[in-house]
Amino acid sequence: MEKILDGKAFANLLGQNLKEKVKKLKDEGITPHFCVINIGDDPASKIYVRTKKRRAEKMGIIQDIYQMSADTKQEEALALIDKLNADPAINGLMVQLPAPKQIDADALLERIDPNKDVDGLTPANIGHLWMGNHFVEPATAEGIIALLKHYEIPLEGKNVVIIGRSNIVGKPLAALMLEQNATVTIAHSRTKNLGEITKKADVLVSATGQAFLVKADMVKDGAVVVDVGMNHVDGKLVGDVDFDKVKEKTSYITPVPGGVGPLTVQFLMEAVVKLTRRQNK
Ligand code: NAD
Repeated sequence: MEKILDGKAFANLLGQNLKEKVKKLKDEGITPHFCVINIGDDPASKIYVRTKKRRAEKMGIIQDIYQMSADTKQEEALALIDKLNADPAINGLMVQLPAPKQIDADALLERIDPNKDVDGLTPANIGHLWMGNHFVEPATAEGIIALLKHYEIPLEGKNVVIIGRSNIVGKPLAALMLEQNATVTIAHSRTKNLGEITKKADVLVSATGQAFLVKADMVKDGAVVVDVGMNHVDGKLVGDVDFDKVKEKTSYITPVPGGVGPLTVQFLMEAVVKLTRRQNK
C-alpha cells in the first residue's frame, strides 16, 4: 500500500524554479557564490562536496572548494573563514563535516558570519531556529518538511518520532516539526525500547547511520516513514530502514537513494540564493 515520496523528482522541480531565480539575479549582475571548506581526506565528504558542486553548476551558482590538508591547524582554518567572511563577493560558506581530530569543528562553525551561514549551523542561526524566527535552516530538515508538505501529508497534532539527535539532522528537524504543531519525540542510541516508541509514530524519521535499524515490527500500520540514513553495505547505498519489508506497512515512504539526499543538496542551493538576495536587498 506504500506510496513512494520521490525526493529526487521534487528536488528537480524546485531546481527548475531556482534556476530561473538565479537567471534573474544574473540579469541584475549578481551571481550567487559560495564556498565549501573541506579539511582532510574523508572519502564520503569528498563525494558530497563534488555532488554539491555539480548541483551548483546546474543552478548557475558558483561554488569554490577549499580543500585543506588533513594536518591543517585550527588557526589556519579560522583564518580562511575570516577571509571568506570579509570578502563581499562571497555570499555563503560552509565547513564540510567531519573534520580531523585536531580541529574543533564547533569553533569553526561559530566563526562563520551568520549572514553567510548556508548550513544554518552557527549558534546564532540555531537560536533563531528554536525561537521560530529563522531565515536559513539546516538543509536536510528543511527538505523533509518541504517534501511532506509537497505530498500534502499533515503534521499538525501528529506523533512524530525522530531517531537521531545530531545538530545537523535530528535536533533542527525537531524544531521544525514543533513549528508544524506536531508532537515530537527524539530517540537516540541510549533510548530504551526503541520499537515501542517508534510504533507510536504517525511519522517516523530515522537519521542514525545504522543500516536496517528500522524493522517492520517497529512501524505502525499506515505510518509515514522518512529515511535519512546513508550507509554503504556491500558496495550499495542503503538507508536506516529495512525498506522492502517496512514499505508493506507504510502509507508513504522515502527510498534511498532518491529520497532525502537530493533534497538536502537542493535546499543548500536554495539557502545560497536566499542569502545572496538578502545581502543584495
Ligand atoms: P550522527 O552520527 O551525528 O548521529 C547519529 C544519531 O543516531 C545519534 O544521535 C545517535 O544517538 C543515533 N543512533 C545511533 N545508533 C542508534 C541506534 N542503534 N538506535 C537509536 N539511535 C541511534 O549522524 P548524522 O550526521 O545525524 O547522520 C545520520 C545519518 O544520516 C548518516 O547515515 C548520514 O550519512 C545520514 N545523512 C543523510 C543526509 C541526507 O541528505 N540524506 C544528510 C545528513 C546525514
